[in-house]
Amino acid sequence: MTKPRVAFFSFSSCEGCQLVVLTIEEQLLELVNLIDIVSFREAMSEKSEDYDIAFVEGSITRTSEIESIKKIRDTAGIIIALGACATIGGVNCLKNQFEMEKVQDIVYGKMASNYDTIPARPIESVIKVDYWIHGCPIDKDEFIEVTKAILLGKKPRIPDYPVCVECQMRENVCLFEKGLVCMGPVTRAGCKAICPTYNDGCTGCRGLIDDPNLSSHKNLLNEHGLTVDEAISQYMLFGGNSKEKYE
Ligand code: SF4
Ligand code: SF4
Ligand code: SF4
Repeated sequence: MTKPRVAFFSFSSCEGCQLVVLTIEEQLLELVNLIDIVSFREAMSEKSEDYDIAFVEGSITRTSEIESIKKIRDTAGIIIALGACATIGGVNCLKNQFEMEKVQDIVYGKMASNYDTIPARPIESVIKVDYWIHGCPIDKDEFIEVTKAILLGKKPRIPDYPVCVECQMRENVCLFEKGLVCMGPVTRAGCKAICPTYNDGCTGCRGLIDDPNLSSHKNLLNEHGLTVDEAISQYMLFGGNSKEKYE
């Protein structure tokens, strides 16, 4: 049986999600028995323009990237957005709060006119995406689960319940009870509530659940001492592409 040809691509990102894939070790070897990896810049020098499945990391932040991602869509039968930059725009969208000219000046100084920049956006705002693996960075167990489901022709299970569910399953004391704040009530689960488990508030890296109760969550943040602007800035860390939802 012909193995599906798989390529990994990276747009504007820190490439940390691809790095997670490389740390999977034993299970990655199992996956390699089921697929042919034909492009993966972090792991190999060979590359190919012929692939069936594309994992795409990073958000779109330059005009030139729009053409590149469309070309990937034209080639791949299945596209999976890998990590927060690709799925929701992620931290790159923080720059969208400023004029693009100012961003260019701050980052490139005198060389600003040599570099093109546009407001950051998730890949879905440019092309159709088939599946999403959320998080900053992604969770390796979820990567394997989603990849295996796709290879078996099944729909991967992407949680549409909040981080609080996983947090309560781990029997954590809620951080709000400790005087801290947390994005868990409105954030998509799948990370095993790793941040609250280590006493750190969820910052929303997996994006909002499909039907978040933002007004109730904002009230909770206000009751725990955050002003309206501070509450909005919590949402903006990873969700800058959806600012209108928060106001
Ligand atoms: S989602 Fe996070 S870890 Fe992954 S590429 Fe973007 S910034 Fe890096
Ligand atoms: S700590 Fe955060 S994720 Fe855990 S139950 Fe409380 S609000 Fe939810
Ligand atoms: S707890 Fe929140 S910030 Fe931490 S990994 Fe999970 S979704 Fe991301």
